[in-house]
This record gives sequence, C-alpha cells and structure tokens, in this order.
Amino acid sequence: MVKADMLLKSNNIFDGVGDKPFAGAIAIAGNKIVDIGDAEKMKAYAAGGARVYELGDKLVTPGFVDAHMHYFSGIFMTSKYMCPVFDCKSETECADRLEGFAKEHPEFEQILGIGWQISWWGEGAALPTRHSLDARIPDRPVFVFSADGHCMWLNTKALKKTGTTPETTVRFGEICKDENNELTGTFLDMEAIAVPSSMAFSISADEMKALFLEFNDKLSAAGITSTTDMAVGVTSDGDTLGYQILKELEDEKKLVVRLNLYPGLGTEPDTAPADGLREKYNSDKVRIAGLKQFVDGVTYTFTAALLEPYANNPSTKGKTFFPYETYRDCVLRANENGYGVRLHCIGDAAVKLALDVYEESRKAGGDRPGVRNGVEHIEALRPEDIPRFAPLGVVASMQPLHVTFNDNEKVLAVGPERAKYQWPFKSMLRAGATLAFGTDFPVVTFDPIPSLHAAVTRTNAEGKQMGSNPDEKLSLAEAIKAYTAGGAYAVGRDASLGTLKAGKLADVVVFDRNLFGIDPREILDAKVEMTLMDGEIVYEVKNA
Ligand SMILES: [Zn+2]
Repeated sequence: MVKADMLLKSNNIFDGVGDKPFAGAIAIAGNKIVDIGDAEKMKAYAAGGARVYELGDKLVTPGFVDAHMHYFSGIFMTSKYMCPVFDCKSETECADRLEGFAKEHPEFEQILGIGWQISWWGEGAALPTRHSLDARIPDRPVFVFSADGHCMWLNTKALKKTGTTPETTVRFGEICKDENNELTGTFLDMEAIAVPSSMAFSISADEMKALFLEFNDKLSAAGITSTTDMAVGVTSDGDTLGYQILKELEDEKKLVVRLNLYPGLGTEPDTAPADGLREKYNSDKVRIAGLKQFVDGVTYTFTAALLEPYANNPSTKGKTFFPYETYRDCVLRANENGYGVRLHCIGDAAVKLALDVYEESRKAGGDRPGVRNGVEHIEALRPEDIPRFAPLGVVASMQPLHVTFNDNEKVLAVGPERAKYQWPFKSMLRAGATLAFGTDFPVVTFDPIPSLHAAVTRTNAEGKQMGSNPDEKLSLAEAIKAYTAGGAYAVGRDASLGTLKAGKLADVVVFDRNLFGIDPREILDAKVEMTLMDGEIVYEVKNA
C-alpha cells in the first residue's frame, strides 16, 4: 500500500522540468512531494487513503520564488502607516494630501508618506523643501519617500530628529542645502537616506508582527511560497528586528512563506556581521541566503553607471558607487566565506564591473557549490557580456514588470542602439544563463501574474509594446521556470525547491485555469486558487 496525505490530480501539471504541462497527479506526504506521474500510476495513492483534489484543467505549478523583493521596506511602504502621494502633481498637492492624512490620524506620532517624483510634476519642477511641510504639519515629524524609495523629503521636526546638520556629509548621494547653507529637508539616494529612513518607522514589534502576518497571507494568495529581502542600504547590516520577528513566526508555526534574507555586503571585506546573523537565522524557512550591494543607482537621476554618456544627458555617464577594488575585496571575502552576492547593476558599466569581480572570485576560489552570485536588474549591458554569465555561474536576476514601468524611459536614457540589450531575457537563456525573476516590490506589485504577462508579451496591460526589443519575450514555460526553478537556484535552494519532483518540498500553486491554453493577453485575468507551502494549504479559494 502506498501512502500519501494528499493527491493533486490535474490535466495540466507543469513540473518545471519539461516544457509543457501533462495530465497526472502529485502525491504529497508531510511536507514533501513523494511521487508525481500519470494518473494511472498515481491511482494507488487514492486507494491508500490520500485526500484527493480533482483539479480538472487547472494549472498546477511549483510555488513561485520572488528572487528580488524588498520584503521589509515593501511591507512598510504599502502599510496603513503610509500616506500615498503617487498621483499628486506638485509639491503643494503632496503637502496638502499629507496634511489631510495627518488630521485623519492624530494617533500617529510621525507622519509618513511615499510617492513623490519631480519628473511627474511637469517641466522645471524643483525638489520639494521642508517649508511646505512645516507650514502644514509643524508639530510632528514628517518623512516622505520618493516613488522609488531612493530619496526622502522631511519637515524641520523630522530633520531635527535625525540629527542632520549642514556639516553632515555622505560619500554618495546628497543632503540638499539652500543658498544660505541651510538644510532644505531633501535627501537624495541610498546613503543619504540611511539615517532618516531608519527613523521613519517607529512602530512597535507587535504592530510590525501584525503587518508581517497580513502581508504573508497576501503572498500566499499570489502563489508566492519563497521570497527575499534584499538590503536597501550599503552598510553591512540587516533588519535585525524584522529577522527576529520572522523567526518568532516560524517558531510559532505561523510562517506561510520562506524568507531568504540578504543583509548588506558593506564596504569592508569582513563577514563577521553577517556570520553573526547567519548563526542566528539559518533554519528551513528563515535564512541568510547571501549578501547584497549596490554598484550604481538608477537612470532617471543619471546615477546608473554607463560605459558611454547618457543619450539624454551627454554630460555624464554616471559612475559606480565605490571603486572596483572595494567590490572585489568584499565579494572575494564573502564568496570565500560561503556567501553568494547579489549586486544591483542598472547600467552596462555596473554589469561589467560585477562580472569582472565575479570572474576574479572564480579564479581565486573556483566553483563553490551553493554560493550563488547574481547580477540584479540588468537594464543595459554590452552584448559581449551576455555570454559571460553562464560559464561564471552568475544568475541573471531581472524583474519583467519593469519592462512596462516608466513607459520607454530606458530607450531615451541610453538611446536606441544600447536599448536593444535592455532586460535581455531570451538572449540570456540562449547563452545558457540561469534567469531568476522577481519584482523588486515595492517598486512594482509582488503579484507574479502581471510579471508573467510582461515576460511573455513585452507589452503593458493595454497591449502596447514596451522597449525596443520585443524579441526578448519568453515562452510561458521559460517565464514560469525563471520564476520558480530560477529563483530557487538564485537563493541556493534548487536541491529542495523550484520544481515538482519526488523528494522535493511540497510548495505548489494551483491556478484557476490553464495558462498554457489561453491567449497570452488573458494571463492578466488568471487567479491563484490554492497555494501549498511545506505540504500545508496556506491559501485556498473557498467553494472554487
Ligand atoms: Zn531592489
């Protein structure tokens, strides 16, 4: 008698090994897949007493792995503590919105907002200043993040709280001052916002835990069974309170998603801070998966590092945050000590630097099994760098929905010639590289469905082609694999996750229809109907 706890029967099982779905069943016992195969072979499990789920034509896939998400900041940025100002068209409109939010929430000790972006405020718009906020909310600190989370705008009360003075300096980014050398309240880019962003969130551990629980349920409902937190700072630290709360949730058996944490790599070749974290957080569901660092910024502020000047600003080509040697020394030490590194690289100069560094590390230490280095984003690169990923074992980590974001800003930034290589999904696969998909949430939604749609169509939701290289679109099988097996590889868990195979952990998603049998445009209408993580049903549409 063959025993299993449950048997998922479907006409469309996509196991992530083959290229199309097949009719059959998956047998699950405890937290593992014990068998998978055609219906005939699997009959014995039903006879052995397994709970049978007849799923008809519904598509069954491995659980989704978001290979690049900002779990902690994403939760806060989208929480009830934040006033969204994305749709405001001027500084005044933003400040008015925040004033209204402050009045509605007398219980909040600080007023938090997100979503300003001067490029959305019309030509010639200036950076916002503390004065407009002071005039409306003088009595409580106000912290307002830019839409991409890279910049901040504070009132005077918040500025005082951060202890920033006109003499405070940062290595990159800017703490803005006016012509009288007074702080304006605006902080530009990651290092500059390190202090204010750390002070923006002052909620209790209990409130934080409640936010995590609520958010994790949303991930389950979207079919995400593993995700990541990529550090947002450049220093060698992690969100220790956040890590602590996740561990508590795991201990209390309330964690419905696996968390792969990437604290900052830092700028010194020293993994002692990470070693301390790894010692504490190294369980099945909450683990330090590697380290993260920024090589450059973003194109719209011309802080992405290009090899040749910007097409829309020939006076600059941006530059990498730190010199080559800093990255080399830190990555070599991290790899040597068993940490894969994920490097944020938007421009072609940044991608080249990352590959050069990984190549040096490979020469020094050979192939270290389980140490997975990655290049993140890849919005521009030299075509000759595409074939370098596979032999170096470097993961190409991209976020398909970004193709549809900001319209065709990338084409403007780098010009049509270089734009041919923006987000080169298909070229990477052709060159044998491992592709890992994610969202960079909160930059775009964590829901994998719009990302799958963007990956297979390279169009926006309205069907408009985005970017200048539609040939980089993928088949649905390739896109799902990048979002499951590719992600599992990137976080170093491909031995136990990422495909539906006997012996692997039972992280499984059931969609309400067969995505392989519909027009790609219809993917956007699909919904997740059931999610299993570790053999447990963590999400289910009732009466489906
Ligand atoms: Zn990111």
